[in-house]
Amino acid sequence: MDFDLSNEQAIWKKIVHEFAEKELRPKAREVDEKEEFNWQAARKGGPIGLMGMSIPEMYGGSNVDSISNAIAMEELGWGCGSTALAFTAHNGLGTAPIALYGTEELKKKWLPIVASGKNKLGALALTEPGAGSDIQGGVITKAEKQGDEWVINGAKMWCTNAGIAEYIITLVRTDPKGGSKSLSMILVPTDSKGLTIGPAEKKMGLRGSPAHGVTYDNVRVPLGNLVGAEGRGLQQTLSTLDAGRISIGAISVGLAQAAMDAAVNYARERKAFGQAIAEFQAIQFKLSNMAMEIELARTMIYKTAWLKDQGRPYNKEAAIAKLYATEMAERVCYDAIQIHGGYGYSREYNVERMYRDARLMTIGEGTSEIQRLVIARHVLASE
Ligand SMILES: Cc1cc2nc3c(=O)[nH]c(=O)nc-3n(C[C@H](O)[C@H](O)[C@H](O)COP(=O)(O)OP(=O)(O)OC[C@H]3O[C@@H](n4cnc5c(N)ncnc54)[C@H](O)[C@@H]3O)c2cc1C
Repeated sequence: MDFDLSNEQAIWKKIVHEFAEKELRPKAREVDEKEEFNWQAARKGGPIGLMGMSIPEMYGGSNVDSISNAIAMEELGWGCGSTALAFTAHNGLGTAPIALYGTEELKKKWLPIVASGKNKLGALALTEPGAGSDIQGGVITKAEKQGDEWVINGAKMWCTNAGIAEYIITLVRTDPKGGSKSLSMILVPTDSKGLTIGPAEKKMGLRGSPAHGVTYDNVRVPLGNLVGAEGRGLQQTLSTLDAGRISIGAISVGLAQAAMDAAVNYARERKAFGQAIAEFQAIQFKLSNMAMEIELARTMIYKTAWLKDQGRPYNKEAAIAKLYATEMAERVCYDAIQIHGGYGYSREYNVERMYRDARLMTIGEGTSEIQRLVIARHVLASE
């Protein structure tokens, strides 16, 4: 067993850490307060490969391994939760399905555009106003073939990056009879006639990562915009989400690390009863728990990413990693605020934002309840 990063991965970690420190950290509060996406981070992240992590080099991407993707997402999450979420929605959701399942024509046309960082991003719309966890039964947005086009009607909800995207990969019902082979993914350019992207949702946290409702009113796209095989949308979605869970877990580890770093600094400086609060065992125990839980979550994230890189099954591990890392991040951010006392509740201190940002992680890309269902399915199947 080898727990060391390869030389290449260690260099990558350093590059992304420095990028996060320079381009994300200083703007994290501003993007949250102004509810604006950090465009400069995308522009500068493109050339170092951060906008093409799921994209093969021949289409302009960096096509990093899963451990390197997890490393990057942790570092970006450490720098700014909002920007990290927008980047992972782009890489993992908005480009990976095209790279994995798309036709050569789609890859050549769209991937170089979004990998450069110069243009808008990619997005994936699965969730609908009436369906999130239950995608298989609940999706009612439909696509019908008319001549050489798909005609799409319906509505999506919570689509991260929709307002800053070149296209939205949209999960649609292509067989009205339903069942596991009735869904498909279709690429819809955001300038398509009949497509309306609503205003950015007013969110609790991650406010520099825009998420939108989207409506499709007789939107017409070429038949060739099908991403993957017709009827394979559910399977492609589940596989995309498995990989996405490693990234959401990694962002959570980064958020937790940032909250712990802030708590350690504060505990050393703040004095009470004549000494630094870091001297109190009650504070030390909180810091110990943080360090322990972050380490455990990171190790599980790496293990899951490693399994993925080996081409081995990792559905259960991805659910465990996501569940543990996201719930851990909430506990760590909670305690980081506690260590800051009243100041922790102030928007002048970053732990307040991290706590709000971390809250999404147990919901997006499969709620904690859904992760527990996935784990239970594996546990019961093996007994
Ligand atoms: C900031 C943000 C960004 C997002 N970005 C995207 C995006 O880019 N693309 C996209 O498609 N979606 C996105 N989502 C949507 C997100 O994936 C869904 O919110 C999530 O999957 C949960 O679906 P839901 O909100 O419909 O909740 P529901 O599915 O309605 O669930 C409500 C509650 O019931 C529980 N529940 C549901 N089914 C079961 C069950 N079988 N057993 C036990 N409990 C159950 C859930 O765990 C939850 O607690 C985003 C959401 C947010 C908030």
